[in-house]
Amino acid sequence: MAKCPYCKKPLALRAKACDAANAKVVRKEVAGSIKQEVMYVCPHCDCVLGFAFFMGGLLTGRPS
Ligand SMILES: [Zn+2]
Repeated sequence: MAKCPYCKKPLALRAKACDAANAKVVRKEVAGSIKQEVMYVCPHCDCVLGFAFFMGGLLTGRPS
């Protein structure tokens, strides 16, 4: 079980993993349409856990 590095509460990336403890699903907030920036947010303390960047490379095969 992953834990938030800030508040130490359990996190889950998928709803199915939320059975145990009081884990909550990590929030993913997406901004932009062409260049999508995905921000992962702790559902407990609202701290930003990290970013994932997509430049269209997943669809076109081009490296970002
Ligand atoms: Zn947290």
